[in-house]
Amino acid sequence: MTAQIIDGKLLAQQIREAVEADVQAMVAAGLPRPGLATILVGENPASHVYISMKHKACEQVGIESFGYLLPETASQDEVESLVAELNTNPRVNGVLVQLPLPSGLDEERVLKTISLNKDVDGLNPVNFGRLAQKGREPLFTPCTPSGVIYMLDHIGALLDGANAVVLGRSNIVGMPVALLLVRRNATVTICHTHTINLPEAVRQADIVIAAIGRAGTVRGDWVKPGAIVIDVGTNRVEDATKKSGYRLVGDVAFEEVKEVAGAISPVPGGVGPMTIALLLKNTVRAAKLSDILLSDN
Ligand code: NAP
Repeated sequence: MTAQIIDGKLLAQQIREAVEADVQAMVAAGLPRPGLATILVGENPASHVYISMKHKACEQVGIESFGYLLPETASQDEVESLVAELNTNPRVNGVLVQLPLPSGLDEERVLKTISLNKDVDGLNPVNFGRLAQKGREPLFTPCTPSGVIYMLDHIGALLDGANAVVLGRSNIVGMPVALLLVRRNATVTICHTHTINLPEAVRQADIVIAAIGRAGTVRGDWVKPGAIVIDVGTNRVEDATKKSGYRLVGDVAFEEVKEVAGAISPVPGGVGPMTIALLLKNTVRAAKLSDILLSDN
């Protein structure tokens, strides 16, 4: 059996077109363009690439974007003051702090400062806490995990009652994706570096989400035939045939697993493009939310 390949690039493009149409309708109705502010602290090269991709994507769909670069030496107060200022800026509907922050900065305190209505990456501990609580609704959910669920829904995956195994328990991917799956009534196992027998855990899964940052870890003989495999991992491996000297691969041994799985997302062209598309979608939602809040006052 060869798996269905889940084309994240195409799916993300469809979301972006819908977002663009939404923005055009808002502008035609006399509303301001939605605005996204990003804060990048320090010199992390990967973060700089991600931020520039986010700004470019905003421009393409007509969202205004405001980029703030702070030096590696920025103090906790400086970062929090900038967030607080953006919280009150009416042109800014979404505030995104690019993670990781340089060591020495308290990430939780910074995320806590983001206004809940502008928390387009869903990482304010209040939004995140609501995600974990029964009967509570976060205003926003984190973009990468939301992109994973979007992909599963797109292929018609049955989440209710499914055995889902999530590899990784980070705050930005593993844990929120596991919580989103629980909210959809999947039975979820979360694996991490202390998991005793990772292959055996994965073999039980109808749905596998790999988010550990270890190239090619999930092998073909780990996967139950017909399982759905979503690969969040984005790892650089040396490749002398590339101009850059490297290529990107996922946490899943794609060539092996695609022969066993029912569906699989590739890297690149899988979850990566979904993250940005969901960020754009959340920014437009935040803008609509702010209109509702303004008209209520
Ligand atoms: P992270 O913060 O480093 O967390 C990695 C998680 O994987 C941890 O929970 C760790 O367990 C677990 N882990 C690491 N090695 C393992 C192993 N050999 N066996 C079992 N568990 C293991 O990473 P992250 O930020 O969640 O990112 C994970 C991957 O997703 C990375 O490749 C990253 O580049 C990618 N990513 C992609 C996107 C996108 O848009 N596509 C967005 C974010 C991240 P412990 O908790 O026990 O340490």
